[in-house]
Amino acid sequence: MKSIAVVYGDVIAEEGILRAHSVEIDRGIIEKIVPSDVYSPPEGFEVFDARGCYVAPGFIDIHIHGLKGEDVMDSDPRAIVRIAEELPRFGVTAFLPTAYCNPLDVITRFIKTAFDASGMEYVGARVLGANIEGPYLSPDYRGMQLSHMVLQPKVRSVKQILAVAPEFVRIMTIAPEMSNADKVIRYLHSAGVVASAGHTGATAAEMERAIDDGVRHVTHCYNAMSRMLTREPGVPGVALTDDRLTCELIADGVHVHPVMMQLLLRMKGPDRVILVSDGTRATDMPDGFYEAGGQVVQVEDGVVTMDDGTLAGSHRTIHAGLKNVVQMLGSSIEDGVKMASTNPAKVSAFCGELGSIELGKIGDLAILDKGLDVKATVIGGEVAWRSDSSYGR
Ligand SMILES: [Zn+2]
Repeated sequence: MKSIAVVYGDVIAEEGILRAHSVEIDRGIIEKIVPSDVYSPPEGFEVFDARGCYVAPGFIDIHIHGLKGEDVMDSDPRAIVRIAEELPRFGVTAFLPTAYCNPLDVITRFIKTAFDASGMEYVGARVLGANIEGPYLSPDYRGMQLSHMVLQPKVRSVKQILAVAPEFVRIMTIAPEMSNADKVIRYLHSAGVVASAGHTGATAAEMERAIDDGVRHVTHCYNAMSRMLTREPGVPGVALTDDRLTCELIADGVHVHPVMMQLLLRMKGPDRVILVSDGTRATDMPDGFYEAGGQVVQVEDGVVTMDDGTLAGSHRTIHAGLKNVVQMLGSSIEDGVKMASTNPAKVSAFCGELGSIELGKIGDLAILDKGLDVKATVIGGEVAWRSDSSYGR
């Protein structure tokens, strides 16, 4: 826990943009947000000059399997830490390592590994918990997930998964149309785990029943789910219109057409869309072949696919998604920050500590130039990354 004064930045706060303000972080906690012209940093504080830049709350990626050659399921907490150390380059200050669809013993081992990583000492993004994408998915909408890994929903198995590290699993994806899914959804809801509909061929009626049972979130909206048709609106139709749901969006410009992204943003509003990367080991890697989720994937011109052409997660991080919603779709920077920071903090149940620049919250910041490129990232009051060694000094 460090102490820093980030001065003269345009602070993106909940109430709007505060021009030329200073954010004082005392031993990791935000203690002051004041106009810079009436502020002088306390003695002993590092001073970071953010003149001409936005100071945003750090981004939180709640759906990420890997990055830059590393996979969260490599059974090694150090692999997760290496991802955590890489993420500040993209303004990401916290994340939920996300399991692919796998047998129960592999999933439970992954949770243990991620839990161990969350307790390790490093300078990088916080491991907030785990996201389990599967194993109760529709084989017909599995995307890149392996079909023989898909299991039938069972409350007993879910209890086993959650028992590995109590309160550590934050989100679980499930296809609501599977038999017994209703029981699992009700159990997840009662256990405080976000039940997320995804990899699903559910009809609108099945989706509505699932919401009544406790589904509150949608895994990468539009991707790997039933289609929206005139007389059968499917999962997307309900996702767009039911205010009880928050929706993930892979806004890399590859997974979802810009018109469909715009439709989601307009229907859900900026408080119910969450940017996710769905990143893998192949994310931010050069063209070539990689292993991801037990399969070979190819990176070509920034697109990651399997050999049948199925998209296999994004090549880019949520920072690219933020740039796209602001620069391509015309969202305000304040709304973009809600989708990248505030809303994911809410979904992962960390909105009391993270997700916005407010007094008493943890001092995790992404400092962006006016072109929205990341110039520096602060985690717990410590500069975890800067674009060049003199920046901000
Ligand atoms: Zn995924």
